[in-house]
Amino acid sequence: MEFIDLKSQYKLLEKEINENIGDVLNNTEFILGKYTELFEARLEEYLGVKHAVTCSDGTAALQLIFMANGIGKGCAVFCPAMTFIASVEPAVMLGATPVFCDIDEKTYNIDPESLERQIQNVAREGMLKPAAIVGVDFLGNPADFDALQSIAERYHLLLLEDAAQGMGASFRGRKCGTLGDIAATSFFPSKPLGCYGDGGAVFTNDDETDTVLRSLRVHGKGKNKYDNIRIGINSRLDTLQAAVLLPKLGILSEEIKKRQEIARIYDEALKSKYKIPYVREGNVSSYAQYIVMTESQEHREKCLQRLKSQNIPSIMYYPNPLHKLPVFKGINHYGEQFPVAENYSTCSFGIPFSPYLTRSDQNRVIECLMEA
Ligand SMILES: *Cc1c(COP(=O)(O)O)cnc(C)c1O
Repeated sequence: MEFIDLKSQYKLLEKEINENIGDVLNNTEFILGKYTELFEARLEEYLGVKHAVTCSDGTAALQLIFMANGIGKGCAVFCPAMTFIASVEPAVMLGATPVFCDIDEKTYNIDPESLERQIQNVAREGMLKPAAIVGVDFLGNPADFDALQSIAERYHLLLLEDAAQGMGASFRGRKCGTLGDIAATSFFPSKPLGCYGDGGAVFTNDDETDTVLRSLRVHGKGKNKYDNIRIGINSRLDTLQAAVLLPKLGILSEEIKKRQEIARIYDEALKSKYKIPYVREGNVSSYAQYIVMTESQEHREKCLQRLKSQNIPSIMYYPNPLHKLPVFKGINHYGEQFPVAENYSTCSFGIPFSPYLTRSDQNRVIECLMEA
């Protein structure tokens, strides 16, 4: 059993993907070009956003956003303690300081109350300038962007959406990727919309930001490539990846529907023994991962061992909250505690999930977990 079944999806789209790849190899346009432009246009259509700027990966998408907004030395960037390091890593590389916030007990997304406390703590101390909030659609479940928006407005902060896990999901009828002032996503193979390598994109409705992003991703180009007007990076989406992503984007909505059906089956079967994912009424999760919680670390250990003994893959996603990572040892927490993020990291695990999970494989996972 695969943890994420990418082979069935390939079988479904094989003809179109192979034709597109063959076309790229034949016309030898490997960087940007026709497929990238077409894919950007389709993304804009799908999300209802003015500009989709593709780039080399999700981390670069976040870096481009931080660069375009002048985030760097002296800036505080607020993010949840439970996310992938890449949500904040590029800001730190640019000289900014991460400020961690606890997560909500139900959704596992950034807790707006902890966020507001941390903003006030940073302002009171006066050493750093509160600059940006990174709202993450963790596990594909949209963060509470209404609450985040009002906090961002109150304190005049940039609200960045990290939608790396959220493609296809929505918050109160608005698609993930359009929820903040600007958004980043990733097309890493295991993400809800994944390519066959690395890929990413930034989404914005602002024309000026779009121009800056397109310059930054090609070494700060001006009117042309050798007329550089700022320091940028090399971060383009390979044409081959755009050619692969086009047909995949075409079936994303259907896949999201299938994800809901498969999640409902897990929900019903597991809810008596495990804490199952909580998606607020009116929201749709992309279930980038299907995560269950046990009551204790010991019970999780038992589950993981049992799954392993039956050759069922599982994952700890993520085993360490950011504030516990060695690289962030010296970071100031301003006295804030992160009990929910810590409990999540010790009691959660992910089980096989994809739109192509068969009923018999799903039953095997359920049986195994109900026995554990
Ligand atoms: C995957 C991921 C990223 C980084 O994307 P890459 O394409 O792997 O660079 C950033 N944030 C979150 C929440 C992610 O899951």
